[in-house]
Amino acid sequence: MISFCIHGVGVSGGIAIGHAHLVSNALLEVVHYQLPKHLIDDEIKRFSSAITAVKQDLEKINSNLRKNAPAELAAFIGTHLMMLEDKSLSEIPKNIIRNEQCNAEWAIKLQMDDIVEQFEQIEDEYLRERKQDVIQVVERVIKVLLGHPSQLSTEQQTNALNEERKLILVAHDISPADAIQFKQHEFAAFITDVGGITSHTAILARSLNIPSIVALQKARDLIRDGELMIVDGGQGVVIVNPDKSILTEYKLRQEQWELEQQKLQRIRSTKTITLDGTSIDLFANIEVPEDVVAVSASGATGIGLYRTEFLFMNRRDMPDEEEQFIAYKAVAEAMKGAVVIIRTLDLGADKQMNPDTVVTCANPALGLRAIRYCLSEPQIFHTQLRALLRASHFGNIKILVPMLSTLSELRQTKLLLERAKMSLRKQNIAFNENIALGGMIEIPAAAINADAFAKELDFLSIGTNDLIQYTLAIDRTDDAVAHLYNPLHPSVLKLISMTIKAGEKLGKSVSVCGEMAGDVKLTKLLIGMGLRQLSMHPSHILSVKQQILHSQLSNLSDNARKVLGLSDLDKIEPLVAKFNAATDLRSK
Ligand code: PEP
Ligand code: MG
Repeated sequence: MISFCIHGVGVSGGIAIGHAHLVSNALLEVVHYQLPKHLIDDEIKRFSSAITAVKQDLEKINSNLRKNAPAELAAFIGTHLMMLEDKSLSEIPKNIIRNEQCNAEWAIKLQMDDIVEQFEQIEDEYLRERKQDVIQVVERVIKVLLGHPSQLSTEQQTNALNEERKLILVAHDISPADAIQFKQHEFAAFITDVGGITSHTAILARSLNIPSIVALQKARDLIRDGELMIVDGGQGVVIVNPDKSILTEYKLRQEQWELEQQKLQRIRSTKTITLDGTSIDLFANIEVPEDVVAVSASGATGIGLYRTEFLFMNRRDMPDEEEQFIAYKAVAEAMKGAVVIIRTLDLGADKQMNPDTVVTCANPALGLRAIRYCLSEPQIFHTQLRALLRASHFGNIKILVPMLSTLSELRQTKLLLERAKMSLRKQNIAFNENIALGGMIEIPAAAINADAFAKELDFLSIGTNDLIQYTLAIDRTDDAVAHLYNPLHPSVLKLISMTIKAGEKLGKSVSVCGEMAGDVKLTKLLIGMGLRQLSMHPSHILSVKQQILHSQLSNLSDNARKVLGLSDLDKIEPLVAKFNAATDLRSK
């Protein structure tokens, strides 16, 4: 086997060693071609052999499943087997091949489309979603027909299914809606051909706390199912079919990395204070209520960003007030009085409810997203605001509004919040009358006008992911311009600094909840610029804390001033690196 290396952009550190599991796009590879009459019988035979091969594989996997494997696993293999037995998949495509004189892949795909359409008419949501099983089983058949079945033996496949932790997901692209579902699994790593460092898919990869790399260009085409791989998330490197010596070297590095992570645990309950006594709040970002477990384990002292839009994904209906209330209340109660900042719906751009509802518009990131969407759908917004207010009775909830650009959006939001409060008062439903309202500063227009926003809000939170995207005109999901996406760009730093100053002047707290907050190379700069609250993925809390514990605030402030005095990125980058190294030395 040929060993090779692919470079991409590491979005989540650590080293994983495991087998490739290709998130299939076999269906996309299917082409249609006509066959001369005399080849039709052979084509039908080719089809039948593929069905038999897949059946045998599944039967073997099924009988090898360990006794305590999750029941769903056996059930799902059983369902696939049943589908293959069914005439609609095993016989009808043969008629299609004969009647249309077409290739087998095309015939089974036509038949699959037909079945999927029938599933889509089903009222019952659970049954409707079984169409995914049809798609998956047809994918298996098509992979065999195309000549690239899994390279794993059935034993290896069973082992892989039994040991999900050793699977490395290899995909061309994964939507945030798909990625959120990975939270229920325990994959070893996750790599994609496309995507930017702060795309929501990358953010989710980070929250899974497994190594991940994006922007690998052609990984999905180059890697075969089952190949042994090393994923070095820190360096953004994938090594496929490594030889023995490389494998040994990486196993060692993996152990070292794990050891370092364990060592960091020692400061988990240490207060986050600089050497000269300034206390910093380190909060966590979450996507689903279940993430609070990781929050507690991380030593974070609050939740600085709960992205509620993930509750709205992978479904056709909207969560009603009760469902939302239960989710928000669960988080508030689990945090036992600690701050929980819940952001109102930020749907749009790369975060769509489900792939079927994708609205095509020329520039989705500049379109009807976040607060713009909520203000255009007041009933949906009203439902969420009521749910948030009701949950505020059970913990220390604050509301955060995404993507503000004008004061009028803020005023409309306040009006709708007041309306939601009034409706609850009328029904005698308890809520926190003084619930704090904050705004995300993530559009340059809002940062430049941060004074005005600070006057009318209780707190500000800087969304650096979007602030960088909109300031530098770089689509955060586009790997082609990922190299230009730079948080140290002087214009980005100036906008952050303006926002911090606006908050200081009016005595309003300012935090950063974008990915910059969890980047240890930026911690000292951000604290030096005046930030006292950072919110990040739980997995970054301890390494950021370590930076702060080793820092003198007076040094950091001087250094930040020097950095802010520069207007050339080429000078800023080395200076920040120098300050990071220098302070590290002093503190050792
Ligand atoms: C941001 O833009 O920095 C942010 C925190 O929000 P999101 O990543 O969800 O757009
Ligand atoms: Mg944002």
